[in-house]
Amino acid sequence: GIPDETPARARVLAVANQKGGVGKTTTAINLATGLAAIGRRVLIVDLDPQGNAGTGLGIDRRAVGENIYHCLLGDTPISRATVRCGIPNLEVVPSTTDLSGAELELVDVPRRSHRLKEAIDPVRSLYDFILIDCPPSLSLLTLNAMVAADAVLVPLQCEFFALEGLSLLIRTLERVRHSLNPGLEIQGVVLTMFDRRNNLSDQVAQDVRAYLGSKVYETIIPRNVRISEAPSHGKPALVYDYKCAGSQAYIRLAREMIRREGALQAA
Ligand code: ADP
Ligand code: MG
Repeated sequence: GIPDETPARARVLAVANQKGGVGKTTTAINLATGLAAIGRRVLIVDLDPQGNAGTGLGIDRRAVGENIYHCLLGDTPISRATVRCGIPNLEVVPSTTDLSGAELELVDVPRRSHRLKEAIDPVRSLYDFILIDCPPSLSLLTLNAMVAADAVLVPLQCEFFALEGLSLLIRTLERVRHSLNPGLEIQGVVLTMFDRRNNLSDQVAQDVRAYLGSKVYETIIPRNVRISEAPSHGKPALVYDYKCAGSQAYIRLAREMIRREGALQAA
């Protein structure tokens, strides 16, 4: 069964892959919604200047005031940049295009790689999970996420160069572990946009499992048009169409994550 005890401190997971369009934001939003539906308190931190995590949760960019940019580069506490999105147990720290300048501005800031960690740490006791939606790069922003996180969750699209991209990400993670964050682990790899009719998808899935074994989630997220429609309605797929195959897969993913995290705590 699913253990009921919740950790006193949030598990902080960086949802990262340097490739764009692989399902990071979709996974952050729908996994978070699934975890919230199971009763976990979840915060999504949008660390991508495109701000898709916020808009996908129905947050109007024009109405966003202080946001993650001000937490990273100013004195704004993260609680002041946190907004509700109408889903119980789920809150979000939105980003705006301000963040696109942050990369360069951070370079001159003391402890530039630790800014996100220092922003997040004070609110860890308020949540069970904090999911950081990373930009599509291995930039200073993603580095901040890897320093702030306990572990990295990697959405991976089953396509030709997936394994090369994955090994680059893992090398980066190992460098961070040796320098800035010794505890950093791979929480898991989630295969996304899986197409059963495509033999290559199957082959890549097998290769990834051979390479990373049990780190790869059993749950596979299928390619599903309802998932791609949901953001334009400002809703997670789980709210837009709870019954579609994609939503059901994200619900299974949330349950599998709870099981894994429970097993970790018991260990
Ligand atoms: P990333 O954050 O890695 O750039 P996104 O989550 O924004 O990727 O996904 C890229 C695009 O693919 C978006 O338009 C999204 O709606 C769509 N998408 C993501 N997952 C699925 C899926 N399982 N089925 C269909 N479309 C998807
Ligand atoms: Mg994204």
